Amino acid sequence: PSLMAEQARRKVERTVRELWFFLSSQLTQLRSNEAMSQNINKLKTDLEGYRRTMLDDLENLRRVDDAEEWREQKSKEMGYLVQRRFENIQNPMDCSSAKKIVCNLHKGCGFGCQLHHVAYCLITAYALKRTLILESRGWRYAPKGWETVFEPLSRTCTDKGSAVKTHWGSSYRDTEKHKVIEMPIVDSLHPRPEFMPLAVPEDLGSQLEIFHGNPAVWWIGQVVHYLMRLRPEIETDVQDAGKRMGFRNIIVGIHIRRTDKINLEAAFHSLEEYMTHVEDFYNQLERKKPGITRRVYLASDDSAVLEEAKNKYENYVFISDNSISKSAGLGTRYSDGSLRGVIIDIHYLSRCDFLVCTFSSQVCRVAYELMQTLHGDASQKFRSLDDIFYYGGQNGHDLRVLEAHPGSSSGLIQIKPGDSVSIAGNHWDGFSKGTNHRTGMSGLFPSYKAEDTVVKVLMPTYPEVPL
Ligand code: GDP
Repeated sequence: PSLMAEQARRKVERTVRELWFFLSSQLTQLRSNEAMSQNINKLKTDLEGYRRTMLDDLENLRRVDDAEEWREQKSKEMGYLVQRRFENIQNPMDCSSAKKIVCNLHKGCGFGCQLHHVAYCLITAYALKRTLILESRGWRYAPKGWETVFEPLSRTCTDKGSAVKTHWGSSYRDTEKHKVIEMPIVDSLHPRPEFMPLAVPEDLGSQLEIFHGNPAVWWIGQVVHYLMRLRPEIETDVQDAGKRMGFRNIIVGIHIRRTDKINLEAAFHSLEEYMTHVEDFYNQLERKKPGITRRVYLASDDSAVLEEAKNKYENYVFISDNSISKSAGLGTRYSDGSLRGVIIDIHYLSRCDFLVCTFSSQVCRVAYELMQTLHGDASQKFRSLDDIFYYGGQNGHDLRVLEAHPGSSSGLIQIKPGDSVSIAGNHWDGFSKGTNHRTGMSGLFPSYKAEDTVVKVLMPTYPEVPL
């Protein structure tokens, strides 16, 4: 390691050591003091100072020796490789003899959900080296089909042909028997192949693990990126919308999902809950950029939120597509303004410097996935008010325990180093909920005592696509 790296590292160590000296001494004093609440408030303010410095130190550490540029370079190179692999699989020399899988866009759900449906189909195509044929005529968002808005998934092969079609089943690897496989929606996928998210291709996994904090999201981001390549005229329209809104960085994106989702699939969260994290982001940034304009890109299915935000947070500049999403200049392409609106919102959310949203919404998960294709490692550039990141229909998500913790009658489960815990969620208060595979017990455990695992699954390595 260089001097710069060593110095930066020792700085973090020092801050953590000092934090502990400080905390111990303050807590000892509090014990002998009666005016508790006043002291606790002062303590919180003091601790905030340590936290801010630590966050800046860690950010500096991330960047020593041009490490950030290196991450960006790696992400770009690997992304380019993966995109060319998708190109390869989707454009076979001879379409009539190519093995295929067929999916359609008629899953009865919103755009993000349908996009994730196609994403699982493309992952299956990649893992089985088959060409994905997407049937999209009569699509609820664009009746004339996917290709009216997005680039076609293939230039050479869009017809499933007349070969016998088989439904997905346990002999899915038998390519001779199954020339064309029709995929169900993920909810009724049996058997469940091991390559489903959150798995990543084995030949990419070890490299991804080095530069990226969440390889599964990076991989899904690449899949979604391939699918969401906009047609040139749509791209121009999205760019124009950005100019009209005055979108530019630095900016925090918030996605507030309300209307039909509330109480059925997600809880209500007030604007204030989102804005707390936006304030936190800008308070940190102010230390390095005093007086910076506090810009927020606000996306929501509830148009009343923008007015509320403007009234309540006068020191912020809110940028939003709400005003123009319905005036679809490309109206003939869309069945209504809703596809254009959600494409624009996902596009600009993914281009924000930080995202605050509920990961229970597929709209925000798509934005977070796409965000990964634009950075070296953007895995920490988010705050979700509810779920941790997941992929609808994913295989089990396990963490590995690093340190022991005793169980308790108040809901803590016992964990030991090496245990595998299937994670249900993070309560964002220091504790996560999960089930310990060793004991079968479900409950809470301290989040910092476990780490995420990367599931690497052998998939084709595409030697015909050069590095
Ligand atoms: P989820 O229900 O939030 O998980 O996401 P889906 O994409 O499956 O369905 C929600 C649908 O509501 C979207 O596809 C959009 O049509 C609409 N929607 C939700 N949030 C937004 C938003 O921020 N902007 C726009 N324009 N539409 C949204």
